[in-house]
Amino acid sequence: MSNPPGATPLIQLRGITKVYGEGATAFQALKGVDLDIHQGEFVAIMGPSGSGKSTAMNALGLLDTPSSGQYLFQGVHVESLSRDERARVRRRYFGFVFQGFNLLARTSAQENVELPLVYRGEPAAKRRQMAAGALEAVGLKGWEHHTPGELSGGQQQRVAIARAIVTEPAVLLADEPTGNLDTKRSEEIMELLWRLNVEQGITVLMVTHEPDMAAYASRLVRFVDGVVANDAPNANRARPQAPAVQEAD
Ligand code: ADP
Repeated sequence: MSNPPGATPLIQLRGITKVYGEGATAFQALKGVDLDIHQGEFVAIMGPSGSGKSTAMNALGLLDTPSSGQYLFQGVHVESLSRDERARVRRRYFGFVFQGFNLLARTSAQENVELPLVYRGEPAAKRRQMAAGALEAVGLKGWEHHTPGELSGGQQQRVAIARAIVTEPAVLLADEPTGNLDTKRSEEIMELLWRLNVEQGITVLMVTHEPDMAAYASRLVRFVDGVVANDAPNANRARPQAPAVQEAD
């Protein structure tokens, strides 16, 4: 599902820098990042703490603006867009998954997943149908009416993934998505992300500290000290053991 060689990359970063603060306390977190990401890739972003991974993810997801450099999304210069236009691109094309799940407590899985569709102004019937489909896709059919407190960590992260994919994004950004989970649940989440990438063609960009989780990616990018120090295909990509998403909680 990757674009043919020569096709315009989905995302192009050119000389991206990010400086936090000003004057004597200014800190340059990104020092000139060049990165091309093609549709259908699954990129694991690795590197030591403080190397700029989260800063790069925030820039990639249009959550924060770089200090300088160029960002092209589908060939369009994002830095020339207004704040509203950038937000529209973000809502239309990106889904986000975080380490801490970030679900609304005392709100059912179904309603959590419907939330981005509420913002998008979808009618209730369509919201219900799309959210149910997304929950089924992450292996949570039958759990629609449970609240986060009634779900395990692995299930909560699946709800968060359902919420991220319900808008049918081109890109899923995941920042340490298995950071709060044990090994078994982590592997289940990675198998789910693998399926979304390979079977549905969603481009996945994931920050992780864990080589076992990065193993599911098709490409490994390593940040060191605010620059990309290594960037290579993953020759030994892991794949799911189970035939389909299993609800094991
Ligand atoms: P990583 O995700 O690789 O751990 P980050 O991108 O979070 O790295 O941070 C890179 C550097 O930028 C770190 O030294 C961090 O302290 C600094 N930094 C991150 N966010 C801010 C901020 N909002 N203000 C000031 N410094 C920041």
